Amino acid sequence: ASLVTVLFHLGEMATATQSLDEDTFGTLAAELGYVIEMVSAEEEDRELLGTFDIDLEAEEAGESDDDLAARPPVVTVMGHVDHGKTKLLDAIRKSDVVAGEHGGITQHIGAYQITHEHEGVERAITFIDTPGHEAFTAMRARGAQVTDIAILVVAADDGVMPQTVEAVNHAQAAGVPIVVAVNKIDVEGANPAKVRQQLTEYNLVAEEYGGDTMFVDVAAKPGIGIDDLIEAVLLTADASLDLRANPSKDARGVAIEANLDKGRGSVATVLVQSGTLHVGDAIVAGTAHGRVRAMFDEHGNSVDAALPARPVQVLGLTSVPSAGDTFLVAPDDRTARQIAEKREAAERAATLAKRRKRISLEDFDSELKKGKVESLNLILKGDVSGAVEALEDALLKIDVGEEVELRVIHRGVGAITQNDVNLATVDSAVIIGFNVKYGERVEELAEREGVDVKFYSVIYQAIEDVEAALKGMLKPEY
Ligand code: GDP
Repeated sequence: ASLVTVLFHLGEMATATQSLDEDTFGTLAAELGYVIEMVSAEEEDRELLGTFDIDLEAEEAGESDDDLAARPPVVTVMGHVDHGKTKLLDAIRKSDVVAGEHGGITQHIGAYQITHEHEGVERAITFIDTPGHEAFTAMRARGAQVTDIAILVVAADDGVMPQTVEAVNHAQAAGVPIVVAVNKIDVEGANPAKVRQQLTEYNLVAEEYGGDTMFVDVAAKPGIGIDDLIEAVLLTADASLDLRANPSKDARGVAIEANLDKGRGSVATVLVQSGTLHVGDAIVAGTAHGRVRAMFDEHGNSVDAALPARPVQVLGLTSVPSAGDTFLVAPDDRTARQIAEKREAAERAATLAKRRKRISLEDFDSELKKGKVESLNLILKGDVSGAVEALEDALLKIDVGEEVELRVIHRGVGAITQNDVNLATVDSAVIIGFNVKYGERVEELAEREGVDVKFYSVIYQAIEDVEAALKGMLKPEY
């Protein structure tokens, strides 16, 4: 109760059970003469694993050069909508030199590996099979990084567009080298030189212009230039990255996607990042645990062992992990279960702490006045593109005044997705849904992450609310 009193005197209303944000905590500590050390979720998890005698850092520090072996690069394809990301992933898949051996049928499991002959040597490359920066953002929001190289697809008949720039920002922020695929060169009016010119503005200067970024002209649909593009990826990897991992230890990695299958139960695609994953291993992925009952590759073939950079579907987890959850092999079933349970408890505590929304329309004005935010970031989702455009136009016409900015950081058609929530998490945005609902399992994620999502079926009501939020006239709802 005395803490509450101190807080009250500091001008913060609080109850004894409410969790506090970092600033309030700091002020409180200073007032009471304590120094408080903030512990991040990752550190907390590391400590948790430490109690089970698992120290990933020490393990890595103890590895010598001899323990490390070359591993394939992991590549993500990003770019503006309709510029050909999906087609390019298809074309690359078809270019697999060993595709004939498995009949060329690939299932979508979230990632696939191909083999390419490079200077007489067969080289493997792993591609994340979710085009766009969805997967990338999901991983980043959870602190995981799987991508070594990004292929930026830019349609030569359209040039650099908003999501092209977003993709460049995402990749550059993560320090991931970019290879540019200038696509649709078969289309009339294609202007590959213009794309090169436009991208210099974003520090992507083509080698032929004296820079160090590889640009490759391709046409994904008819399959032109695909081998050259893969060559460029390997050359970029060899020139700027040291891709090695220790295959002779327990596996560690990241879950890329997962779902609940009626017949098979929890099916998770994981990417092994180091070590080797074996059938029979006890694993923990996020808060899911279990024993690897079976593993399958992207051709549906069952595999017994998965080496670094290999994506595999894993059967045997007791629940469904989230994309971006890290996984590790535990010494035994019991430890795996205990780690999962402890993580779940930690997650519950964190959820309670975040229940106070990151940013909401209701408290925007007070956060603005406290100097905590400078812009109201919005993500717009609607049932049809016309409505989204109309909404955006109207919102951007609101007279916001001098000291605040209204930014639409992302817009799209369809249900509110996990990616929308992840973006909102990364960029502290409020999501506005017009005649749409939550996608599957998205409401829980928004709740967990404390993201404010508002639904409307009348445009002017959305506009009124945003206008009121900007002016601090929305009443908080509790
Ligand atoms: P995404 O939204 O970036 O995944 O784009 P898609 O791969 O779905 O491609 C968008 C459209 O462009 C589709 O109609 C494709 O058939 C077409 N497209 C993609 N690549 C090419 C290409 O190289 N040449 C031509 N002519 N059309 C292409």
